[in-house]
Amino acid sequence: MDHTDLYINGAWRKTETRFDVINPATEAVLASVASAEIADADAALDAAEAAMADWAARSPRARSEVLRRAWELMTARLEDFARLITLENGKARADAMGEATYAAEFFRWFAEEAVRADGLLTHAPASGARILVQHKPAGLAVLITPWNYPAAMGTRKIAPALAAGCGVIIKPASETPLTMLALMPLLEEAGVPPGLVNVLPSRRTGALVDHMLHDPRVRVVSFTGSTGVGRKLLKGAADQVLKPAMELGGNAPCIVFEDAEMETAVEGTMLAKMRNLGEACTAANRIYVHADIAEEFTRRLTGRMAALKLGDGSDPDVDVGPLVNAETRDKVAAFVADAVARGARVECGGTTPEGPGFFYPPTVLSNVPETAECVHDEIFGPVAAIQTFTDQEDVIARANATEYGLVAYVFSGDFRRALQVCERLDYGMVGLNRGLVSDPAAPFGGTKQSGLGREGGHEGMLEFMESQYISASW
Ligand code: NAP
Repeated sequence: MDHTDLYINGAWRKTETRFDVINPATEAVLASVASAEIADADAALDAAEAAMADWAARSPRARSEVLRRAWELMTARLEDFARLITLENGKARADAMGEATYAAEFFRWFAEEAVRADGLLTHAPASGARILVQHKPAGLAVLITPWNYPAAMGTRKIAPALAAGCGVIIKPASETPLTMLALMPLLEEAGVPPGLVNVLPSRRTGALVDHMLHDPRVRVVSFTGSTGVGRKLLKGAADQVLKPAMELGGNAPCIVFEDAEMETAVEGTMLAKMRNLGEACTAANRIYVHADIAEEFTRRLTGRMAALKLGDGSDPDVDVGPLVNAETRDKVAAFVADAVARGARVECGGTTPEGPGFFYPPTVLSNVPETAECVHDEIFGPVAAIQTFTDQEDVIARANATEYGLVAYVFSGDFRRALQVCERLDYGMVGLNRGLVSDPAAPFGGTKQSGLGREGGHEGMLEFMESQYISASW
């Protein structure tokens, strides 16, 4: 591996303590990576503060052109990034290429948004004064990302922060720090000045992040990960009243009505379930199928799932790679065992293969009871858990009966009914006759305990900006 040290102020920095990154397909050590300490965080904050002064003063067009160049450079190197993503995360090559492409697109989208931080000029209705509103960079941002999308969860934060004029310190997940480190030479080449983006892998995560959240120069904390860690960060952010952006867990319902076009519903559910082998906050976690079509739907979905090839994601013929670590694999196996013990039927898969590698096969469970743990918790693996329904009101109520509200999926051939159902689902996003909602041009995010704020779309850059209102007379 070329880059395994900390990246601070445009330079690589070694540390005394290091930790291993494992290839989940082989369980072999891929790299030994530097682990940041508090002094490194201080150096990164100093660098980001110095770099941001000049960056924020540059014209939006100048910032936009650097981001555009980053998109061009990354697009030319998608294969390299995909290879690295597969090595450290395990996902199959096609999934990794999908992620690399999606990750690069954030640079293009926010290159376009950088010049559109539109404000407002209007008359105050009562006083007749003028109301001027402009958006300004919020300040230094601490970005914390998960292991399931080692590239995209980083670029989805870095690109809007840079477009807004902010400097950043990014703390990638310990399972997958290599992709973010590999992105740094590319950003340098694109023209990102030294110090503006700093990367701090660390095994002292809690203490390191907490230290940064209490530095008075930090104004934004943007986190993607579990709801449990999100709650801790919100508490830490309260002391300095930081601007929080929280992309947290999900428990996505996928509702297939009896009037759905069967092929669209099966393919859409496959995509919603199996993109990133189910290790996605957007993964269809509870699949509700109308009883009239449940048998045919289950048979077709099982056929598609059973045909997927499991293996080392580096092999281009493989469809499904390993899960990221043993803990995640064992949690998935435990969800299946629990559901089966409560009466679910295994239609395919369901058995952990011999190692090495943290593999779990594509699995379909039918007849999953409401009491099964996987109905209430994120499976985060390649397990499709099917339940049936007969009544529209009942399925809407069941879909909404969760503390999460990230994404839901609806399949129906009756558009009027489908839109009525979409509106009643308490979710930040809905896929209607589609199993994929992620798009850099759309506001990604959830309601309830799935998070605060939105990434992508027009909203994404505003998460890194503060509105200033000037009341003026002339
Ligand atoms: P996680 O355990 O919450 O970890 C995410 C990040 O937080 C990692 O960088 C981790 O660092 C760091 N972290 C852990 N404890 C921390 C602490 N006390 N203070 C500060 N940072 C801390 O989540 P994960 O297992 O990597 O990712 C899976 C979760 O992410 C799922 O719940 C999934 O739904 C969610 N997710 C949400 C979205 C979304 O957009 N809503 C997208 C993707 C994933 P270490 O690795 O060093 O522990």
